[in-house]
Amino acid sequence: MAEPEVRYLFAPELYGRLVWFGRLRWLAVAGLAIASVAGPAVDVPHVWPALFVVALFVAGYNTFFTMVLRHRFREGHPYEDLQACAIRQIVLDLAALTVTAHFTGGLQSPVLIFFVFHMAIGTIMLPTRVMYLLAAGTSLMVLAVYLAEEHGVVAFHPLDPSFGMCGRMCHVNMAFFVVALLGIVYLTDSVTSRFKQRNIELWRTTEELRERTGELQRTLRQMEIVEERKSHYMRISAHQLRSPLATIRTSLQVLTEGYVDPGSERGKRLLAGAVERVDGLLAIVNDLLELAKMREGRARAPWAPNVNVNQLLADLFDALEPHAEERGVGLHPEFEGVAILDRGIPPDLVYAFENLIENGIKYSRSGGEVTVRLRVEGDHVKVEVVDRGIGIPEEFLDEVLHEFVRAPNARKHAAQGTGLGLAIAREAVEAHGGTLTLRSREGEGTTATVELPLHAKPHAASGELPVSG
Ligand code: ATP
Ligand code: MG
Repeated sequence: MAEPEVRYLFAPELYGRLVWFGRLRWLAVAGLAIASVAGPAVDVPHVWPALFVVALFVAGYNTFFTMVLRHRFREGHPYEDLQACAIRQIVLDLAALTVTAHFTGGLQSPVLIFFVFHMAIGTIMLPTRVMYLLAAGTSLMVLAVYLAEEHGVVAFHPLDPSFGMCGRMCHVNMAFFVVALLGIVYLTDSVTSRFKQRNIELWRTTEELRERTGELQRTLRQMEIVEERKSHYMRISAHQLRSPLATIRTSLQVLTEGYVDPGSERGKRLLAGAVERVDGLLAIVNDLLELAKMREGRARAPWAPNVNVNQLLADLFDALEPHAEERGVGLHPEFEGVAILDRGIPPDLVYAFENLIENGIKYSRSGGEVTVRLRVEGDHVKVEVVDRGIGIPEEFLDEVLHEFVRAPNARKHAAQGTGLGLAIAREAVEAHGGTLTLRSREGEGTTATVELPLHAKPHAASGELPVSG
């Protein structure tokens, strides 16, 4: 596990412990003040005013650190700063303790136990090596004070005036003191390291869980989008089917209820209109079925090897020629190279190109031209269907690729149309790992461009959605 992550895991805890430590320090301040005042009364006059000064000193830095903690580290406390703050506090505590020990009997002082207490708390909060250094530093500091007392550099202040320097016993005390400091660091570290390790594991698990939850949420969102699209599609489909059905129903009602004689001129017109609408409905239903088939992913699609796009387009030209001629539109193939797809679904490709060429013919004016350009470019084939017809208004360029969308100029130009052709064409092209794009200017013409990879690989085992490569 990377170091910074582990560190940040403990940051809030370290902050909490420092706050708690600060509160505890006020007790020490109170103790020192009381001892300094009560000292002379119990025959320990030298503790006044020394311990009082120490009490003021501790109160001073404790106030400072409390403020720092409250204002600077409140939010997103960086771990390094917190650690530095903790180290400074402990160093000052140890210094204050050394002075207190000096005025309360040196190596016989009862406050020596607080050094051990500090080392234990410090090891819980700080890296062990820092604590070993602090233990060594403290030992040297206490040793220096003891030597100074022993050699008369500073006065010795026994708690009981009848006590002298402890002599040899002090050497033993000093040795015990050093062992106690280092020993407590070692013991505390071995006890707490297991908890720290567990904390780290807990943190890792939490992180993993958070990641998995994120993934799950993303999948759910995707499913929601698919559902939304489905219901949108169903709403539009129902709407598209409803209006012609309602018209047919009205016509039939007029006839069956005897308002119009079916044999009369008007009756025949109503029936012919109904037949025309039924044809329109059939066209929509067929297109919807085709679209649904493609959306199922073509799991059992008849993927064929070596699909010759030139051949496929040439066959389409033969089939569409009469229709184009009827509308007074010329069809021009311009092929550069031969495009053979490694794999493809010929009926879908025919459907796609047929829709695009039919649109070219349908939305051209009489005397217009539709050019189909095929060009092999690297590992792609590019097919452009170009016309100089009515064009697509800019705001509809993206929209018309969706189901049932027809631009107003197209509705005016050709009343009949489901608005499904481009959607189907796009599905078919994308199922081959390709793209369908439109360029157009209203009144000037349209270019529909299909790009297909020649060496698309089938996706996984399903045979659907090939990926280029
Ligand atoms: P259908 O394909 O059932 O005859 P349609 O042609 O209206 O109906 P799409 O082929 O999906 O449906 O085309 C959608 C819309 O895109 C058209 O109604 C028209 O507004 C616009 N469009 C498509 N191709 C062209 C084109 N070549 N020129 C001008 N407009 C086009
Ligand atoms: Mg069309």
